[in-house]
Amino acid sequence: MYVHVPFCSHRCDYCAFATWTDRGHLWERYAQACRTQAAGLADWSAGPATSVFFGGGTPSLVPAELLTGILASISAAVGLASGAEVTVECNPETVTAAKLAEYSRGGVTRLSFGAQSMVPRVLELLGRRHTTGAVARAVGLAAEAGFGASYNLDLIYGAAGETLGEWERTLEEVLGLDPAPAHLSAYALTVEPGTPLSRQPERYPGDDDQADKYLMADAALSAAGYDWYEISNWSLPGHECRHNRLYWDQGDYAGVGCSAHSHRSGPGGSARRWWNVRTPERYCALVESGASPEAAGEDLATGDRRREALMLALRTRGGVPAGVVPEELFEDGLVETVLAGAPGHDGGSAGALAVPGRARAVLTVRGRLLANEVAVRLRDQL
Ligand code: SF4
Repeated sequence: MYVHVPFCSHRCDYCAFATWTDRGHLWERYAQACRTQAAGLADWSAGPATSVFFGGGTPSLVPAELLTGILASISAAVGLASGAEVTVECNPETVTAAKLAEYSRGGVTRLSFGAQSMVPRVLELLGRRHTTGAVARAVGLAAEAGFGASYNLDLIYGAAGETLGEWERTLEEVLGLDPAPAHLSAYALTVEPGTPLSRQPERYPGDDDQADKYLMADAALSAAGYDWYEISNWSLPGHECRHNRLYWDQGDYAGVGCSAHSHRSGPGGSARRWWNVRTPERYCALVESGASPEAAGEDLATGDRRREALMLALRTRGGVPAGVVPEELFEDGLVETVLAGAPGHDGGSAGALAVPGRARAVLTVRGRLLANEVAVRLRDQL
């Protein structure tokens, strides 16, 4: 289950997500609409939720009781599987001990903090408003609330003007947090159309700079015991994000809230994907009137779905069946052969596709840098 919380206190100038900074008056009404939509999922019949992810936006901006109330409605409608992973995305400066205590009481098991950088100057370059001290403070409060290391930090690298030394300092400081995160996501800054960043070419990131920073991150995180399991994601063993893996495995998920996407498998390997209306006002009005909040959807034929499965799996440590990969990608050092089930190879996100003992093609670190090109060359073969 994904729950979209479309509210932020400030708009970061690289962000293209569906989120608003002037809708505080809608918080309670919106949460009620989410509870109503969740209650209507009683006939979802895909089994109890194995993960619930509150994303945004800034879920931690709104009163914690609104989130735990939505979680209670989800639990009542579809149930939560034993050991379900329940994550709330937080901006460090919005976190309080009282909010974290309510999350813990209400069944949240994992936090995801948007840290981005630990260097004040880089946060300014990114147009972020929190201070670097807020991250350590939030992590400390989370530990006191019982979350321990069960948290993720989101980092962004490659802002124009960020030096390699500053990125190195960010990596050192996040690894030095007490407790250190069990999971880290590091994303290359991307220029999204329509954002303020997109109108300032002098602030565009450089490919080579981002490649250097990716290599630096992978080396530092590997040395600290984190395994990459998707191009932008590393975790301590056993702490991969179950919710993300569901997406990469093309699992079934229901989206609650405006802009939320859903996916449901159909007969014979087909599937349907659909998404809700974009604005919170429209979403509330539709749900309150008893109508579906769905905006549009698409049917995915079996062949399309198989191709998509390979594209998603290619980005993970599980890789794709070696037999579907053109030989030249091996010769170019972009992928390497790994036996499924071999040490260090967990079957990955593509576990459903992996047959123990069969060869898998997994991106090398050079392949990860050039993953889009690898995907195009693989797709052209299919
Ligand atoms: S806090 Fe996150 S969702 Fe909100 S504007 Fe910034 S990047 Fe976008």
